[in-house]
Amino acid sequence: MRTLVMKFGGTSVGSAQAIKLAADLVLRETPKWQHTVVVVSAMRGVTDALIHGAATAAHGDDQAYRGIAADLRVKHTLAVAELLSNAEARTSLLVAIEGYLDEFASFCRSIHVLGEVTPRAMDTISSLGERMNARVVAARLQEAGLPARAIDATDLIVTDQRFQQATPLMDATRERVDAHLVPLLEQGVLPVITGFIGATRDGITTTLGRGGSDYSASILGAVLNADEVWTLTDVDGVLTADPRIVPEARVIPELSYAEVGELAYFGAKVLHPKTIHPVIEHNIPLWVKNTFNPTCPGTRIVSDPMGTRGTVKAVTAITGLSMVTVEGRGMMGVPGIAARTFAAVASQGANVLMISQASSEQSICFVIPTADVTPVIAALEEELALEITRRDIDRVWSMSDIVIVSAVGAGLRGTPGVAAALFNALAAQAINVIAIAQGSSDCSISLVVNADQATPAVRQIHEQVINHG
Ligand code: ASP
Ligand code: MG
Repeated sequence: MRTLVMKFGGTSVGSAQAIKLAADLVLRETPKWQHTVVVVSAMRGVTDALIHGAATAAHGDDQAYRGIAADLRVKHTLAVAELLSNAEARTSLLVAIEGYLDEFASFCRSIHVLGEVTPRAMDTISSLGERMNARVVAARLQEAGLPARAIDATDLIVTDQRFQQATPLMDATRERVDAHLVPLLEQGVLPVITGFIGATRDGITTTLGRGGSDYSASILGAVLNADEVWTLTDVDGVLTADPRIVPEARVIPELSYAEVGELAYFGAKVLHPKTIHPVIEHNIPLWVKNTFNPTCPGTRIVSDPMGTRGTVKAVTAITGLSMVTVEGRGMMGVPGIAARTFAAVASQGANVLMISQASSEQSICFVIPTADVTPVIAALEEELALEITRRDIDRVWSMSDIVIVSAVGAGLRGTPGVAAALFNALAAQAINVIAIAQGSSDCSISLVVNADQATPAVRQIHEQVINHG
């Protein structure tokens, strides 16, 4: 095997103890591969703290960020003290960390003076957690005898200028990687690269969105044409359900890219939703594994898992949603109402999670985050004002406290009986289904239920359809 990319999430590198385990794992894997690339998140909680510091400074608080800088100093210093026995290595690492924390404090001071924080400044500030931690992890690996070197992804991942949510420019990234990373690998260096961050062509720091280190790993995996990408986390793999809801949830051994994409979309916090995009094209297997339980194989994500089409593999629930309905008899056969409805919704920046239209065309309903309901209804009433006065549309209304429960698995559309099995499972507990939609991707069936029935609905589907399916 040639190249392995290993990405460690915040919890996997969130304490000295965790970093030790992560380093042990790297130590065990490197001999098996020609090249190994490590990608790291910030220590757990650090990105939140940095963002909080900047946000409070922008709102006039001149103290909070100082406290945060002090806490981050303690957190990193303690970890370094436990991880490194070499005094010289320790001192130089602490000097580097001090430098980043000074930067943080001075950025926050400026933000406090200006009274605002731009998305661009926020990206520069939130990048500091990964910059610090890549150095900590690299130092530990060096101490373990590996030729590790911390590298900022700002030198490798080139993105557009959408701060906070940047998109990688793959060709430019490939050029940088070929120029700067491949030669290091050929010299035998073990790169420890910051996750989450990149830079514009002009070198201005950007971030790929919260939780973006997974995405960084798959971008690097794709441009390196790696043989495998591993995301190391604190659970044994992708699970059949959220274990807080379903204690007997199990690891799913194999999933397709489409299935994991659907799971991420429907709220399972497994991977950053864009993670699969770069690896799909090259068909690179993506693994989700547990840093704290390395003997568990984890979940393998590939394009075409064998022999599992047509079965429900996982069930998820997304909360905090409302269902908006546009209804009226005069809508029947009138072209353009749906287009105008969704244009009005989009004008408010609301994310539509599910749509369903009655075949009689007397109503369209869709599900959006509850926070967006008031502006969306106002926009709909304005857009459809004429139809409303003419009584072609009777009303635009919303139902709050609903949950989307999604059953995920490839090939559900072409498999008779899946919807019936879901309905039977829910009917057995007298759970009322308010709306249903089949995923256009063929990988999910979603049901809308009342929020107070979400937990029993998920448990029932797990018990009746996944376990006994
Ligand atoms: N540290 C970043 C975040 O907390 C990225 C990541 O952990 O993947 O969002
Ligand atoms: Mg994550």
